[in-house]
Amino acid sequence: MSYSGKKVSLLTQHGKQDVMSPELLNSNGLEVVHVKDFDTDQLGTFTRDIPRYGSQLDAARKKARLGMNISGLTLGIASEGAFSADPYTGIFPWNYELVIFIDEIQELEVVGHFGGPAQSASKTVSNWSEVEAFLEECKFPEHQLVIRPDDAFHSECMKGIKELKSLKDAFRWATGKSREGNVFLENDLRAHTNPTRMANIMRATQDLSQKLTSLCPQCNVPGFWMAQKIKGLPCSECATPTHLPIADVWACAKCNFKREIELQSKTADPSRCPNCNP
Ligand SMILES: [Zn+2]
Ligand SMILES: [Zn+2]
Repeated sequence: MSYSGKKVSLLTQHGKQDVMSPELLNSNGLEVVHVKDFDTDQLGTFTRDIPRYGSQLDAARKKARLGMNISGLTLGIASEGAFSADPYTGIFPWNYELVIFIDEIQELEVVGHFGGPAQSASKTVSNWSEVEAFLEECKFPEHQLVIRPDDAFHSECMKGIKELKSLKDAFRWATGKSREGNVFLENDLRAHTNPTRMANIMRATQDLSQKLTSLCPQCNVPGFWMAQKIKGLPCSECATPTHLPIADVWACAKCNFKREIELQSKTADPSRCPNCNP
């Protein structure tokens, strides 16, 4: 089956439709209906004022369902981002983006993912020259800023600062409200204010698009994709099973059909073997 020509709701207020809609139309023929009659910030913000609704997947699912309810469509899409440290060194800011597709009638959920570097810098400053020194690191003005008095947890803030003049005004405002003249600056992480994040949302949407074009050989429903790796590639010297993968398992998102696909490499280098190189 194919979704070509079908309408799908997309609940977003932060301009994500600009990157998501063309991709879904070009790759899957899905016609995106942009739904904006709901304040998605109620489901959580990155500026710590409102905690996120459940997990990243829960929040995306909730948004998709809301968009389907508002539009009356049986297909829905929504995205949700998360920020943490990078998975390799744990030092650099990282951004995980997730895009969910729900088909109410097929009772199907397909999820696209992407993880990549985030533009998520922050700094506490106390004078204007410290602000200027931070502008390169936070990639201003292409990436917008949030400013607040004192520290990261002050209840008042100004978001979406994108010009030097408004930054100066906001700095004056925050300094005036601060206890000791300190001001907290950070990148605005909302999609329309952060091009690095927007590009990551695009890649997660591409991942979803690809999964939607892959049909299950048994039930013909989209979303047939690699679900698991089987470890145990044998060592080329002693044939001991290693932690390297020997096969991929592809699984249907709807029925229980699975297919094991052996990987090209048949043996592992002895340097990866628990017996030859313990
Ligand atoms: Zn070995
Ligand atoms: Zn299936």
